Amino acid sequence: MSDEKYSNVFGLGCKPHEIPGEVCDLTFSDAENVRVVIPTLQRVIHLNSVKHGFWEGISQRNPLVKLMLTNCELAEAVESIRKNTSSNPCNKPGLEHITALEEEIADAVIRLLDFAEAYNLNLARAIIAKHEYNRSRPFRHGKTC
Ligand SMILES: [Mg+2]
Repeated sequence: MSDEKYSNVFGLGCKPHEIPGEVCDLTFSDAENVRVVIPTLQRVIHLNSVKHGFWEGISQRNPLVKLMLTNCELAEAVESIRKNTSSNPCNKPGLEHITALEEEIADAVIRLLDFAEAYNLNLARAIIAKHEYNRSRPFRHGKTC
């Protein structure tokens, strides 16, 4: 498969993936922003989720159910690509400025942030730490494909 075909597979315009010459470090200021923005998003998203009743009842508080619902959002993202609707405007009123794929990815991220807040996870710390770890790993993390 040529790079040109690959970049347009399923009609998704994928950025060309050149190895960047620039440093992939988070600056101190970037890290500080992550430490502020992620916990803020966790808190407000979780409060909204609680307010809308998504943490009521045993099954709704089951962490396994909550994580599987994130998979459901990713499955919706996959389906939008398979049905060639990923670039369509979102069909929710007032959300026409985002695409169907963006909506589903946002849903998945929102569910993860909600989960992290409910179970008192420090996602900002984990993201920064994991990014630093990934930076230190070999090309393709030592895998061949
Ligand atoms: Mg969805």
